Amino acid sequence: MSSISSPRPFVYAGSRLECSGADLSELAAQFGTPLYVYSGDAIAERARMLQQEFAGVLHTICYAVKANSSLAVMRMLGELGCGFDIVSGGELERVRRAAPEALGRVVFSGVGKQAWEMDAALDAGILLFNVESEAELEVLAERAQALGKIARIALRVNPDVFAETHPYISTGLREHKFGIAIERAREVYQRAVRMQGIEPAGVSVHIGSQIRSVEPFAEAVRRVRSLVEDLRGDGMDIRYVDAGGGFGIEYGKAEFDPAARVAEYARALREVLDGLNAHLLLEPGRFLVAQAGALLTRVLYTKQNGKKHFVITDAAMNDLIRPALYQAHHEIVPVVKDERAVQVADIVGPVCESGDFFARDRETQELRQGDLVVLLDAGAYGMSLASHYNTRVRPAEVLVEQGRARLIRRRETLDDLLAAELI
Ligand SMILES: *Cc1c(COP(=O)(O)O)cnc(C)c1O
Repeated sequence: MSSISSPRPFVYAGSRLECSGADLSELAAQFGTPLYVYSGDAIAERARMLQQEFAGVLHTICYAVKANSSLAVMRMLGELGCGFDIVSGGELERVRRAAPEALGRVVFSGVGKQAWEMDAALDAGILLFNVESEAELEVLAERAQALGKIARIALRVNPDVFAETHPYISTGLREHKFGIAIERAREVYQRAVRMQGIEPAGVSVHIGSQIRSVEPFAEAVRRVRSLVEDLRGDGMDIRYVDAGGGFGIEYGKAEFDPAARVAEYARALREVLDGLNAHLLLEPGRFLVAQAGALLTRVLYTKQNGKKHFVITDAAMNDLIRPALYQAHHEIVPVVKDERAVQVADIVGPVCESGDFFARDRETQELRQGDLVVLLDAGAYGMSLASHYNTRVRPAEVLVEQGRARLIRRRETLDDLLAAELI
């Protein structure tokens, strides 16, 4: 029940849970709870895994910042040679602060880019704009002309490929708001190539998130390849193939061998792109950071309502919204393993919503007031989706590298939280 499968850096040393050698009880004592804890070692390992599997191909890993936007995590990935996939001017500012040397390795995605965001990205000299509509293309051309710059673009095409995942994070079907239908793309490129300030340089695709089979990726890139060949035939210098992100993990107890999965993914993409002589861009988010992180929280109270047993933690849906938003599963394990009985309980937060639960009818070791527990696989879409709902400060964050933990985001104060308000 308390066993943790191998790709996670959270392991028991005897009865005590550690993150890459750092004792979680000590982290709780030093930094308080709720606390996000990330293993920098585990993040680096995943990045190197991808880099090694694609070593034979010209490629750049553009980390999807929205998965975990921590400056310290971004700096680490920048130092490992990664670029970044951003979706806002705010995320561009993060790259500027965390890894300015990587600005030339930034791709800018998103369906609603604003003029000021385009200006900032043009000024920064980013690698590629992933354009999602003709209307956006026109605004981008206007901004590039105004600034005397050339915007390298890829159209984000919608390949109409179905990827088995949660409906909120599936993006590659015609009914989704993302991209330009692939059948129309050639015509839009022909318009783009005549626009002043625009240089078509790539084709991009992103079919969704938490996709665990390789075939939809291969199918999407196969369709992209055929478009690249057509566009080159039309005389365009299309050098970049952006295969997007979305590579999934296993959140539950199922066996998961990330190295084997990456190898399979890389083999499939290399095969599809063989001989195309393109620079491959990848936009992984979750795969790099999800399993490297966990949310450490303390049991505030336990209670019995009729037949139901509840464990109330000091973390809530505002700190980690994935269970409430996507019905997501997170493994929950005690920080100190004990010979206590097994219990079945709902593990819930203090927020005033019935949707504020982390797990329902979950079997764990009996949990008592004051115990520490950890929600695993919370490194992606955890802190980056945290809010102040119920006027709660967001968690602090700690990064562990080679057994040494350091604070990378202090806990907010109520003054921080109220600072922008006017009465
Ligand atoms: C969210 C997103 C990603 C990252 O997705 P993951 O599932 O975290 O790998 C990559 N590219 C785009 C365009 C995205 O919107």
